[in-house]
Amino acid sequence: MTDTGCDDRALEDIEAAHASGGVARREATIVRGQGARIFDQQGMSYIDLSAGHGWAGLGHAHPAVTQAIREQAEKLVCLTESAFNDQRALWLSELTALLQLELGSTGRGPLTRVNISNSGSEAIEAAIKLARLFTGRSEIVSFRRGFHGRTLGALSATARQTFRQPFEPLVPGFSHLPYNDLAALAVGITERTAAVIVEVVQGEGGVHIARPEFAQALRDACDRAGALLVIDEIQTGLGRTGRWFASQHFDLAPDILALGKTLGGGVPMGATIWREALGTIPAGSHGSTFGGGPLACAASRAVLEVIREEDLPQRAARLGRLLLERLAGSDARVVRQVRGLGLMLGVELRTKVTPILRRLMQRGVWALPAGMNVLRLLPPLTISESELDNAVTAVEEVLRDA
Ligand SMILES: *Cc1c(COP(=O)(O)O)cnc(C)c1O
Repeated sequence: MTDTGCDDRALEDIEAAHASGGVARREATIVRGQGARIFDQQGMSYIDLSAGHGWAGLGHAHPAVTQAIREQAEKLVCLTESAFNDQRALWLSELTALLQLELGSTGRGPLTRVNISNSGSEAIEAAIKLARLFTGRSEIVSFRRGFHGRTLGALSATARQTFRQPFEPLVPGFSHLPYNDLAALAVGITERTAAVIVEVVQGEGGVHIARPEFAQALRDACDRAGALLVIDEIQTGLGRTGRWFASQHFDLAPDILALGKTLGGGVPMGATIWREALGTIPAGSHGSTFGGGPLACAASRAVLEVIREEDLPQRAARLGRLLLERLAGSDARVVRQVRGLGLMLGVELRTKVTPILRRLMQRGVWALPAGMNVLRLLPPLTISESELDNAVTAVEEVLRDA
């Protein structure tokens, strides 16, 4: 018995009896997180190389985020956008100033208009609806191996059959082109295309990085067809790849940018940001009860400030290079290829990834799959060098013994 009054077995039985079944669980009951570590009731800890599935860019219980949440929770947790709010206004001004600083040199006009929501999927839903409104067109192009979320619109943009097939028919008008294939762009993006949705580093799909010439051709194809370019930076954004936004590696300018995951510091939050020149949408056309609530905005202000003050994009670039070099030097026979940008790495294996994940758990390391045979590492950008070193040593040893 511990402070919850229930042992792990009892808690697991309760969840097993009531969970939807839609998410496979690991055999661990996690009750606390601190920095790059998560703990079970007995105090056994894991180094979290998943950043909580990507949301914990700043790790768990970052003191600045915790303080912002605590202070705002005592004032005002929720407020719909039907009234103005101090935290929302300040967050909007800080976020758009950041976007101007980082992405403003592309010569395409500032990203100033924001729809605030509660998840990555919702940020993509908003992007799809906005693209229809702004262009008067209905077709959406995305890419094979891409992942954009689980709601019906976002799922329609997601190509993987196992995610889609049980829920068909999905939204009409979506097509999926091969990734990094320049010739396919010319044919697939047309005058009927409202938007092209893309991850410049595909996360869920196996950590595949866009080729620079593909990124450029994508921008050109959108311009030629009058289609909007939606960049899904839900996983790659906010420092993960070694720049504030992964699109900066490619000088690729979005018309619409989708953010989520790390954005709210663990408070559910998504954002869809678009160019001033596209205008606004009619009153009553889109919104959400919780979207833009003061708690999420206050937490996100703290997140943005910590990333800036600790220069986490630069840290992710430096640690990511070291990590990539180490893993690429592995002599483990199961390793087929190591790919990555900043602290977003994929180790493609010659075997299934699930047994590797299980062995890593036994070594106190919590990592992620990306498809059937890619081991995905997304450590918090704040992870200490010694924790990263220990975790990577465990990864190397588990791979060598596999
Ligand atoms: C996680 C993710 C989403 C979906 O976000 P949710 O918050 O889980 O709805 C969409 N796109 C990408 C690239 C993601 O990694």
